[in-house]
Amino acid sequence: MDETDVVVVGAGLAGLRCAQVLREQGLRAVVLDAGDAPGGRVRTDVVDGFRCDRGFQLLNPAYPAVRRHVDVDALDLCFFGRGVVVAQDGGLAVVADPTRHPRLLAATLRSGYVRPGELAALARWLVPALGSVERLLAGPDTTLAASLDRARVTGRLRREILEPFLTGVLADDTGATSATFVRLLMRSFVRHTPGIPATGMQALPDQLAAGLDLRLGTRVTAVSRGTAPQVTTSAGEVAARAVVVATDAGGAADLTGEAAPPVRGLQTWWFAADDVPADRATFLRVDGTRGGPVVNTALMTAVAPSYAPPGRHLVQATTLLPSKTGAAATEADVRTHLDRLWGVPTRGWEVVVRHDVERALPALPPPLVVRRPARVDEGVFVAGDHRETASLQGALVSGARAGHAVARALAGVR
Ligand SMILES: Cc1cc2nc3c(=O)[nH]c(=O)nc-3n(C[C@H](O)[C@H](O)[C@H](O)COP(=O)(O)OP(=O)(O)OC[C@H]3O[C@@H](n4cnc5c(N)ncnc54)[C@H](O)[C@@H]3O)c2cc1C
Repeated sequence: MDETDVVVVGAGLAGLRCAQVLREQGLRAVVLDAGDAPGGRVRTDVVDGFRCDRGFQLLNPAYPAVRRHVDVDALDLCFFGRGVVVAQDGGLAVVADPTRHPRLLAATLRSGYVRPGELAALARWLVPALGSVERLLAGPDTTLAASLDRARVTGRLRREILEPFLTGVLADDTGATSATFVRLLMRSFVRHTPGIPATGMQALPDQLAAGLDLRLGTRVTAVSRGTAPQVTTSAGEVAARAVVVATDAGGAADLTGEAAPPVRGLQTWWFAADDVPADRATFLRVDGTRGGPVVNTALMTAVAPSYAPPGRHLVQATTLLPSKTGAAATEADVRTHLDRLWGVPTRGWEVVVRHDVERALPALPPPLVVRRPARVDEGVFVAGDHRETASLQGALVSGARAGHAVARALAGVR
């Protein structure tokens, strides 16, 4: 039987960060993962030279855990424009940060969204997001919808930009997510525009995994507890002094009996395109009329040309899973919607791959509960975004917390 100090189950961001902390603490950690590469929900498939992340996702270098523990320069991040293109009943409008895109000032003013009353209300809503995180977490929480109502953010800026944008970020179009969590996200958006690594999101877990003892293709089927816990895997047994279950919430429930929160799903369609509008190409597009299944779409190659073979373009289109109608979106519905969002016919675009991620994000209703204890039983610890917040930041923080908790427990410190 294999023996080590700590077995970490799961090589997602939480498990990788946990193993890094254990290594820093001088402990031997073996990371077991059922998949064929590290990353968990952060993976990139290269299909015919197109880099398709497993679900459209972005890395915000303003996340505190990313700033501290990731070599962001080495990721060669490519940044989106600071604005959005919005499909309205009469066509497409653009709203961009005038300090970054001064040439779009006139178009932004014409868009109909720059109304002093609603902007001031939004600024008031944002204030708690910009102060101390501790104060934000200690303050009252409610749903996103209720908090915007209370702050009187009730106009077109909310209905046609903020809510459609957040629907894609939260995988939630009901407004039921914790306002505190959304404020934490907005804090990062205000501080930095998110981006994608030039070689795909996979570059992030690849960097974190460097130098760790990683065993891929190894599914864990059972974890026993106690002072000498054992892990049963598809490749045999491993004995350890502690086990960290850093799977997603459902996996942690199966292995530890901990309750799993409800999860939300996302579907991303990746299209190869030859003709795409060159205008405002680095902006995310959303539908202000909410008239179809696509919650956001973006021309990845305008931001990172390396996402496609030379001369080709890659477009992502994300829908909720299930979509707003309750069923998965059909390709015909997605294409019809994309015609409107891009203002050009998209029938010539070819589907490269479609990613259906049913368990994309744990739901975070109010009140937001963070810093759930890592230790769940004698010798057994749990990490993952479901223990913190549904984000890369949450996964990294939770992994580090579990690593420190294990190190303290093994040193006999409570
Ligand atoms: C489509 C999509 C878009 C997203 N967009 C963003 C975004 O823009 N910004 C952001 O901050 N976050 C985003 N997220 C969320 C972010 O990706 C996750 O919060 C984070 O990656 C979770 O990491 P984790 O380590 O907690 O879990 P996971 O990444 O799920 O890792 C768990 C690991 O455990 C392994 N595993 C599970 N069961 C077993 C078992 N029995 N035996 C062995 N191994 C097992 C799995 O293979 C997996 O590798 C997005 C997520 C998705 C899916």
